[in-house]
Formats: sequence, C-alpha cells, structure tokens
Amino acid sequence: MSSRWVPRWKTIEIQIDDKKVEVCFDEVSKLYACPLCTPICKKGGIPDYGTYFFSVDDLKEHLIAHGTAYWTKKIKVEEEEEEEKVKVLEEEEEENEE
Ligand SMILES: [Zn+2]
Repeated sequence: MSSRWVPRWKTIEIQIDDKKVEVCFDEVSKLYACPLCTPICKKGGIPDYGTYFFSVDDLKEHLIAHGTAYWTKKIKVEEEEEEEKVKVLEEEEEENEE
C-alpha cells in the first residue's frame, strides 16, 4: 500500500541511574526513539520527525542530556498538573533556604 516507513513500536523500559524510563523500540527498523523528542511513538503513531538511536546506550546518553528536568517534569505532570508552575517556584525558593 505505502512505501512509507511503518514502525511497529514496542515500549520498553530502560534504567538510567535509579530511574526507569519508558522508551520506544521499533521492531521494523530496529531503532530506539527518544520518548521526549518523539512522544507519538508511545501511541504507536508514525512520527514526522524524531530522534532515533541504534543502541540503548546512545539513547541513554541522549536522555541524560535532556537533563533532570525530564524527571521532575514527568512527576509534576502526573501528580499536580495544574500547580506545576507554582510548585516549581516554591521549590526553588525553598532550596535557597538553609
Ligand atoms: Zn530526545
């Protein structure tokens, strides 16, 4: 039907430090996709763009490069979506206090 790449995404869990991260692996192209750059992969969609890696290690390095903002953002979105901005400000202030 189509000559377009049709990925068959599998969500796999990888461990970075002590965090578990869900990433996408395409069984067709054998590529790993960054779940931040390519969020549609988790829904099984066909990305128009994205960041792909041939090895888990490369993807890990990429995710680490995204920074710790990823973890905090993920937790906040899940737990306190509406208060996210306020919370971030509060926490920054608290960190400055002894
Ligand atoms: Zn990325």
